[in-house]
Amino acid sequence: MSAALLNLYDLTREQLHQQFVRWDFSPVHAARLWNYLYLELAGSCSEAAMPELPKKVRARLLAETTLGVLPVAIEQDSADGFTRKYLLRLADGEHIETVLMRFTGRVTACISSQVGCAMGCVFCATGQMGYTRHLSPGEIVAQAVHVARAVRTVSKLKTASGTYHPLDDTSRKPGPGVAGAAGARLRNIVLMGMGEPLHNYDAVMHAIDILRDSSGLALGAERITLSTVGVVPGILRLAQEKRPLHLAVSLHAATQAERAALVPVATKWPLDEVMAACHTYSKTTGRRIFYEWTLIEGKNDSPEHARAVGALLRGLPAQVNLIPLNPTTGYDGTPTHGTAAKHFQHILATEFKLPSTVRQRRGLDIAAGCGQLAVS
Ligand code: SAH
Ligand code: SF4
Repeated sequence: MSAALLNLYDLTREQLHQQFVRWDFSPVHAARLWNYLYLELAGSCSEAAMPELPKKVRARLLAETTLGVLPVAIEQDSADGFTRKYLLRLADGEHIETVLMRFTGRVTACISSQVGCAMGCVFCATGQMGYTRHLSPGEIVAQAVHVARAVRTVSKLKTASGTYHPLDDTSRKPGPGVAGAAGARLRNIVLMGMGEPLHNYDAVMHAIDILRDSSGLALGAERITLSTVGVVPGILRLAQEKRPLHLAVSLHAATQAERAALVPVATKWPLDEVMAACHTYSKTTGRRIFYEWTLIEGKNDSPEHARAVGALLRGLPAQVNLIPLNPTTGYDGTPTHGTAAKHFQHILATEFKLPSTVRQRRGLDIAAGCGQLAVS
């Protein structure tokens, strides 16, 4: 039944405006509704949540639209308090993961683009579950709104309770257009949850347009990072359209054979084509790319591997993000330990002048690897 209803989170501000014109309502009400959705983060179109909408507007909204708020099925905090993970329920009963992270004093939402994933990376919990369906733009936007709302709620609680919790840090001053004046706000989005965002290109870009709107969540170009397994046509399209976002490309290996063993879709988009697309992207946009490398002990973490990736990325504006493997039930591998990861980084820095980070493995106790909560 609800499938026929218009999901308000599917609409850009302009589309919402057009809808109000079609309904013969004043654009003033469209602007008000937009503010309720993305500044007040309203959870429904009820009179309590949106008191300044006229009765006739509310009646129409209630009859013909839905607000695609995603209910929480499971919520877990990591022991260190830096990661809060949500399993959210979609209208058709499927589930996706959304993660709230506060690693550097900033709130980042890690959001999903699909239910499952068709790319089949062997070490990835989402890959192990297979592909179910794409998410709609509204389902992607709803995840960001969920995190923004959660941040605002804890921020208010913090003021009341006075106890410190990393996720509740309100020390940062809100920026302009901040939703919820209590303090903390959603600052960054990473499309690194479940799914391959460039396999769901149109919906993801539509959602990003909504998230970027400067009169809404205002997550600008420097605030959104999209991670891809290496979907070559998608990377080229991003370059051509000069999409304002940061791009991360998951490499994991520097030779075609080693990569194909970890990333089956490498047979479709071979490493040399991925690298050619990355060159085009950086040249066209002037942007640096983040290259992700899941560190698996004895597989891709030797000094020779470090030199191979260094050579592969020579001449490219690049940063390497090393992610020690999060063990999953479907893959028999162990994470690289800290000293080997440090050595890997040292080689990249000294021999290739290549900056890198080792992603903190915070939240491991709540299975923070992508897709792992949905699997369990
Ligand atoms: N599909 C996209 C984005 C989602 S995965 C992509 O593959 O890039 C985000 C990152 O997490 C990718 O670099 C992916 O390889 C990595 N990842 C997935 N499962 C992991 C695991 N079990 N341990 C460590 N990193 C993992
Ligand atoms: Fe899909 Fe990314 Fe997981 Fe690979 S790592 S299976 S592309 S979600």
